[in-house]
Amino acid sequence: MKEHHVITQNDWRLQGQDWLREELLRFAHYRPRRVGSEHDHCEFCWVPFKTSDVPGTAKEGYVTQDSRWICETCYEDFKLIFDWVLEI
Ligand SMILES: [Zn+2]
Repeated sequence: MKEHHVITQNDWRLQGQDWLREELLRFAHYRPRRVGSEHDHCEFCWVPFKTSDVPGTAKEGYVTQDSRWICETCYEDFKLIFDWVLEI
């Protein structure tokens, strides 16, 4: 068995985001709902999404149909738990 970082249901980022289960996601560059209103953050780890290069923020990630954002790290960590569907 290879060494693997196992994500459990006890991960601190999991706060009962059951509404995100089996969500249809699309990989995209961050775009705020309104221009100049960049207040979105990852639904799991709360990393802020920004359109410009800012340390400690994300410029792209996975977005749901209703514009909720998930960073790439959390997508990779939780995709098996949440059964996400990736829009191509
Ligand atoms: Zn995240």
